Amino acid sequence: MQLLKMELRGFKSFADKTTLIFDKGITAIVGPNGSGKSNISDAVRWVMGEQNVRQLRGQKSEDIIFAGTEKRRPQGAAEVSLYFDNSDHSLEIDFSEVVVTRRLFRSGESEFYINKRNCRLKDIHMLFADTGIGQDSMAVIGQNRVDRILNSRPEERRIIFEEVAGISRYKGRKEEGLRKIAETERNLERIRDMMGFLE
Ligand code: ATP
Repeated sequence: MQLLKMELRGFKSFADKTTLIFDKGITAIVGPNGSGKSNISDAVRWVMGEQNVRQLRGQKSEDIIFAGTEKRRPQGAAEVSLYFDNSDHSLEIDFSEVVVTRRLFRSGESEFYINKRNCRLKDIHMLFADTGIGQDSMAVIGQNRVDRILNSRPEERRIIFEEVAGISRYKGRKEEGLRKIAETERNLERIRDMMGFLE
């Protein structure tokens, strides 16, 4: 699986639609201080489901939307799409190219898409779980993150190892299964109460 392309519009300093093509091999993004290099890695993390805006160097979710300049009006929404080559089908979806999109409106409304179809954030998490590029993966290491990993608590470090070992997807499914069992048991309890009342 390879990241082929990225499209940004209204995301942080990228007011206009901007397309970045990633060829095979290494891509280096260079530019003066403050020109938006880190905003690109922020955009990757955002699409992959980062929910904590502070991790994206903002204070509130609106901070990721282009805020305007003296000459340009602010944008009403931010949108980023990542295009992945899935010809090896490492993502469990029946498409040889997968496009993941996230959109946030200034009103706070948020949308997620997989191949242009509306989905939940959870679907994106599940699709990328254990691929090494999911939300908590080591694929994107921001400034200061190396220090944070080295200083993290054992429980936090365990989450990293679980992602790398490929078991977090199953852990997520297990937790969902346990939640459903607990809900079913609560429902059964209510039915038993009602039957007891009717007898
Ligand atoms: P450095 O080399 O110093 O690390 P960089 O190239 O990584 O810099 P970034 O940190 O990605 O630069 O970009 C910072 C720029 O993005 C700043 O000029 C900041 O004003 C701009 N920026 C951040 N959020 C927004 C926003 N919501 N709207 C407009 N511009 C923004």
